[in-house]
Amino acid sequence: MKKVVKFGGSSLASAEQFKKVGDIIRADADRKYVVPSAPGKRFSEDTKVTDMLYNCYSVAESGKKFKDLLNKIQDRYNEIIQGLGLDLSLDNEFKTIEENFAKKAGKDYAASRGEYLNGIIMANYLGYEFIDAATVIFFDEEGNFNGEKTNEVLGERLANVERAVIPGFYGAMEDGTVKTFSRGGSDVTGSIVAKAVRADLYENWTDVSGFLVADPRIIDNPEVITTITYKELRELSYMGATVLHEDAIFPVRKEGIPINIKNTNAPEDEGTMIVEDTCRQPKYTITGIAGTKGFVAVNIEKDMMNAEIGFGRKVLSVFEDFGISFEHVPSGIDTMTVFVDQAEFQGKEQAILAGLHRACQPDSIDLEADLALIAVVGRGMKATRGTAGRIFSALAHANVNVKMIDQGSSELNIIIGVRNADFEAAIKAIYDIFVTVQL
Ligand code: ASP
Repeated sequence: MKKVVKFGGSSLASAEQFKKVGDIIRADADRKYVVPSAPGKRFSEDTKVTDMLYNCYSVAESGKKFKDLLNKIQDRYNEIIQGLGLDLSLDNEFKTIEENFAKKAGKDYAASRGEYLNGIIMANYLGYEFIDAATVIFFDEEGNFNGEKTNEVLGERLANVERAVIPGFYGAMEDGTVKTFSRGGSDVTGSIVAKAVRADLYENWTDVSGFLVADPRIIDNPEVITTITYKELRELSYMGATVLHEDAIFPVRKEGIPINIKNTNAPEDEGTMIVEDTCRQPKYTITGIAGTKGFVAVNIEKDMMNAEIGFGRKVLSVFEDFGISFEHVPSGIDTMTVFVDQAEFQGKEQAILAGLHRACQPDSIDLEADLALIAVVGRGMKATRGTAGRIFSALAHANVNVKMIDQGSSELNIIIGVRNADFEAAIKAIYDIFVTVQL
């Protein structure tokens, strides 16, 4: 068996956390390829090393003195090295970084040093080979990830390496310039490595015991989702549930490699398994609930709209021309409503209304702002009667007025539009009816 294990920043924030990680890796000989993040926060007001690096580099870029800031970053690493009792010095590495910052080597180079240096420490601590991600993970000239080349080179490079540490978050462009993924991108690196070595499992170690059925800021101590499919995960992440970087599922998904979200601080917890599909019935009818506030409903009315072929296309092309993507388009006989992101829409509001009038001569357009969308997601809904009924009666009991309903034909989710002010109450009502009553 081969497992790729990725550890997030909070799992590697201090020597104490590193020791937990070391114990986890040593407890299972299959944990052969390790992808570390940069040291994260040790306590809630602390600063992540990645943010310290961005800050230090912006000072360097503006031509001001940055040595003190760089020293503070080196202190973070030295504390870890000393706490682990390692015979390792990063002095030469920091000298090179200082020179490169002075030469303005780029923001991505700067940020990537967090993972690079943590990788060196991790490899030294475990006695594993260190492989610089810049030599095995590639981006094209436009800065897009080059999956094909990466898979080939990384696969070959790791074919004869029994155990290795590959830092997360970055790679290099054709000309050698360091390039990072977007924030949280070490999750993506872990997935890329898992694909390249054809791992049996990609373990993603973080500081929570998996995906939760609902947002813990709204529900006290929500249940953990034990198994979730890639499709369900995508629906929930899209609506705001964040544990894993959105792009991290793509490399492993097509290879049938499951991802297991695990907690470094509670390694005995099962965590969440993310799989292509499963016969395991979910514990509750629904797998999870997620939602986002801040949408506008653009209601367009026109008599005899039903008979006007091409009306919908004309409406949507106006939004397209303004670079606005739409979320949902519920419609009636003579009405059509387009749900869009309020922040994106607001600045262009009047121009879009004028565009709609010109393009499709509606009788009237009205806007309803400050709406929230909630996704109730679950593969179990397909086989269960009355799910929608339970949701809406729970919302009615909680005095929540439903503004919009959308159930895709896949029956994987039901999307509900409510007022922003009703958002929390709605999520609580749905959670209670499916989870709390069954506990
Ligand atoms: N260290 C990077 C960040 O803070 C990448 C990561 O942790 O995945 O975004």
